[in-house]
Amino acid sequence: MIKFLDLTSQYRSIKPDIDLAISQTIEEASFIGGARIQLFESSFAAFQQAQFCVGCGNGTDAIEIALEALELPPGSEVIVPANSFISSSEAVTRAGLKVVFADADPTTYTLNRQLIEARLTERTSAIIVVHLYGYPAPMGEIIALAEERGLRVIEDCAQAHGAEWEGRRLGAIGDVGTFSFYPGKNLGAYGDGGAIVTNDQAIADRCRMIGNHGRVAKYDHLFEGRNSRLDGLQAAILSAKLAHLDGWIDKRNEIAAIYLAELGGAAGLTLPTLPERGRHGFHLFVIRTGQRDGLKQHLASHGIESGIHYPIALPKLEAYRRLGLQNADWFANRSDRFLLSLPMGEHLTHAQAREVAHAVRAFVEDVG
Ligand SMILES: *Cc1c(COP(=O)(O)O)cnc(C)c1O
Repeated sequence: MIKFLDLTSQYRSIKPDIDLAISQTIEEASFIGGARIQLFESSFAAFQQAQFCVGCGNGTDAIEIALEALELPPGSEVIVPANSFISSSEAVTRAGLKVVFADADPTTYTLNRQLIEARLTERTSAIIVVHLYGYPAPMGEIIALAEERGLRVIEDCAQAHGAEWEGRRLGAIGDVGTFSFYPGKNLGAYGDGGAIVTNDQAIADRCRMIGNHGRVAKYDHLFEGRNSRLDGLQAAILSAKLAHLDGWIDKRNEIAAIYLAELGGAAGLTLPTLPERGRHGFHLFVIRTGQRDGLKQHLASHGIESGIHYPIALPKLEAYRRLGLQNADWFANRSDRFLLSLPMGEHLTHAQAREVAHAVRAFVEDVG
């Protein structure tokens, strides 16, 4: 059996560190706020090369809080890629703003300057760049466009911990970056968790206040916020895991390199591309094939798990029927039935990666 994701084997590989972090936090009764949070926030900021980090309840809240902290004009439009998890767009609506989907680049699966330009209007005030699957979006051209047009840039880094664009970690290249620590992400908590990073002190301060009831002191509230905080146990677990994250991402890249080498040239398969001068986070290794469902079944019959990210493009969801974009002739709308995510993670051995690749190749060569 080759697992898509294996959180139990990850836990076993670092069990003493995790167990100690949990028991110490409980001994300290450091559940909300406190030293564990501060330590994680400062180490995660350093890891992502950002000046500030604010923990919050989950990655969806992180986007919503970041949007709120930017104080965009009410009702303004926010451009969101049509191929993402629903959080990226859901947060826009929750923040009282208007979702405007844009198509994604078939090579990178991310937004680029041209795709954003195609969807700009007078009312556009921000762009949510999703570094989907861990691929660093072309931030240079996106930031240039944002500066020309006076737009804010939010980086949804839920799948891109540790990934780099031109040697820089993601998140604080735009105005503000958001992270999820959902258990299956590259850096996962043992429950929900999220964080916001930025180099702008005012944004960081507003995010912290929004997520903590708008308070300045225990019972002194400047405005109505909400309750969305990272808790002490999750922060302690995340700190213990953060020490291993770079190694785990290197391992993901090794597995990806094996897949790319073993699957290169296979007929009818589109493989992920590597960023020219960046570091892919390889949260997911996504291929495209016209035989997606058959291949998925073939892999399952060989004991190999796989996934689909995502089976229905956002504009085609019932939730977005109101936008009338379900039939737009977009890569995102067309490609959802071709996508297949192969097993990916530090739990895989090189031999397992070769076994997966051989099973994929055997199937596509057979049906081809
Ligand atoms: C997982 C994910 C989120 C949301 O994170 P949660 O912590 O589950 O709320 C947001 N955006 C993307 C692209 C994701 O993959």
